[in-house]
Amino acid sequence: MSNKTKLVIFLVVCVALTLTPVTIMLLNANWVWPMRDISVALAFLGMTIVGMQFLPISRIPWLADSIQLDKMYKTHHVISAVSVGLILLHPIILVAGQSMFFEEPFWLQAGEIALFGLILIAITSIFRKQLKISYTTWLLLHDIFTLCIMVFGLWHMFGRNYYMRNSAMTATWIVLIVIWGGLALYIRLIRPLILAKHPYKIEKVVPEGKDTYSVYLLPDGFERPAFKAGQVAWISRGPSPFVISRNPFSYSGSTEWDAVRFSIKKAGDFTNTVSDWKPGEKMYVDGPYGTFDLDDPRMQKGLVLLGGGIGIAPIMSILNTMADKGDKRPVYVFYGDFNEETVLFEDEFENLKSRLNMTFIQVLEKPLNPEACEHKGFITKELLVETLPENYKELFYFMCGPLPMMDAMHKHLGAMGVPKSQIATEKYEMA
Ligand SMILES: Cc1cc2nc3c(=O)[nH]c(=O)nc-3n(C[C@H](O)[C@H](O)[C@H](O)COP(=O)(O)OP(=O)(O)OC[C@H]3O[C@@H](n4cnc5c(N)ncnc54)[C@H](O)[C@@H]3O)c2cc1C
Repeated sequence: MSNKTKLVIFLVVCVALTLTPVTIMLLNANWVWPMRDISVALAFLGMTIVGMQFLPISRIPWLADSIQLDKMYKTHHVISAVSVGLILLHPIILVAGQSMFFEEPFWLQAGEIALFGLILIAITSIFRKQLKISYTTWLLLHDIFTLCIMVFGLWHMFGRNYYMRNSAMTATWIVLIVIWGGLALYIRLIRPLILAKHPYKIEKVVPEGKDTYSVYLLPDGFERPAFKAGQVAWISRGPSPFVISRNPFSYSGSTEWDAVRFSIKKAGDFTNTVSDWKPGEKMYVDGPYGTFDLDDPRMQKGLVLLGGGIGIAPIMSILNTMADKGDKRPVYVFYGDFNEETVLFEDEFENLKSRLNMTFIQVLEKPLNPEACEHKGFITKELLVETLPENYKELFYFMCGPLPMMDAMHKHLGAMGVPKSQIATEKYEMA
């Protein structure tokens, strides 16, 4: 089954599940008090959307190569905001102007608690950095608030028992609860149990440049799962895979090597420790995920790979894999970094040049030795146009780097008339 078909099936099922309760409700509403019916319809829709957020979409193996992670995160943010709005409208429409805090009966209080959870999740998500909440703490709070919204929201709905008396409605919500609960159980219990049986051991940790280290991992007692160049995995370190947070990293090595390699730049709590990681230590790799696929028909005429800083990591996986497979497609690499001290994979690039049909352009923002640097500043539209062949609109573009760089590249490619369908991005700053 193609990736697109899987995605379409998944989306159709999600939309159908989301719309079922509100459709049943609207079909059974008596419209004696339309404002009440509308407010309840909005809340039903909001609750099913909140429930859908339980779906660990990025970690469902069947969908692993069909979902673009950055698009998924963006969609998650948008639909979360929509669900908050819909649920908030419910009490506003229903009891506008009345105080409704901590009154009897409990089903009403349960609704209020769910609302507080909803408001807290919105505040801590939008203002996480200003509130100085670490990412791991935020993930934990996010899970607690989501659970609170679901438990007390459902308590409110079943406790009020107005529209829920309808047996089709009750059955639908039970099905939804089973699906959401099952998926939450899968991601929190079953997936870690599976990972526990597939530990990796650190083979070596190699410094690559300023603050960046490549970590080579070997599977400990099982066959290494295949992955595709350009994909990512969530990794964790330590004796157990039962952790609150795993961190996402691109595979940076060849698909043909025995070890998997991740190249990690120090950026915070987890990554700052990478220089202390020791050979033999246990790690867990949850992956692969992501849609990049060198066999994609759109990529057959050649590739343009645009990397900035640590965004060069997935590009190294693509290049090493192509070299190991004797892939002679034309490939144009534009690698932007700060200066000679921050550049990564210098020796590896030298080695790859002779093994690939590759044009390699390195651009340094502020070189320490400007005379010896051919391309200074940023990757510009002019540089792209003068380097790329005439048929550049037929090539496939992959970019990964800091957000301002990606925005600039999108602008250049748009101005050059490269179709959007020929461009893929990997964003590292999406959570
Ligand atoms: C798809 C993807 C691929 C990536 N590939 C690489 C790579 O190959 N090499 C590399 O050096 N970096 C990569 N990153 C960035 C890397 O994941 C973060 O730098 C790292 O997780 C930061 O964690 P920390 O605890 O050290 O820092 P913190 O200070 O705790 O976090 C810094 C920021 O990193 C992000 N982050 C932290 N944990 C997670 C998480 N579990 N899920 C999503 N985002 C998180 C958050 O935006 C957070 O604000 C990638 C990110 C994404 C989303």
